[in-house]
Amino acid sequence: VPKIGVLALQGGYEAHKKSLVKLGSFARYVRVPEDLDGLDGIILPGGESTTIGKLLVRYNLLEPLKLKILDGFPVFGTCAGLILLSQEVVGKAQHILGVLDSTVNRNAYGRQIESFETTLNVKIQGSTRIPAIFIRAPRITHFGKDVETLAIFEGTPVMVRQGDILGSQFPPGANR
Ligand code: GLN
Repeated sequence: VPKIGVLALQGGYEAHKKSLVKLGSFARYVRVPEDLDGLDGIILPGGESTTIGKLLVRYNLLEPLKLKILDGFPVFGTCAGLILLSQEVVGKAQHILGVLDSTVNRNAYGRQIESFETTLNVKIQGSTRIPAIFIRAPRITHFGKDVETLAIFEGTPVMVRQGDILGSQFPPGANR
């Protein structure tokens, strides 16, 4: 059974843990560096990326998590999680992990009221159709040559992968 952590500083971490448990995986909230011990991977949920970034610094998690990911620790970031993974965020400076060769533009689809749900074909295990929820989602505007596109929406990549670093502009909504 894979042991997966869910970064639980702020945002939608509870839904991710529920999904993992439903899938038969071991799931643990990560709030301090010691929580990372013995894990096989981690999910960075959506939320407010500025807040999560600040808390990563406050709980001394930013540096250890970054080093671990650079060392090959698998990570999946959704929404704010994708922002934290990206190397560059358009606009104001904020604390990020910066491990994914990409640039994101925050809140690129408009305000909360412009949030929407759709179904996407995702290149995982062949091709899988999954519900995707865009909640004040970021948009990937640039990415490097080692980054592979796993899903496209309105002609632009919305889910990408660079080795064991996976990022999507949306949380997969399959469990609702
Ligand atoms: N708007 C948030 C941010 O910029 C991300 C939204 C989300 O995670 N659903 O950090």
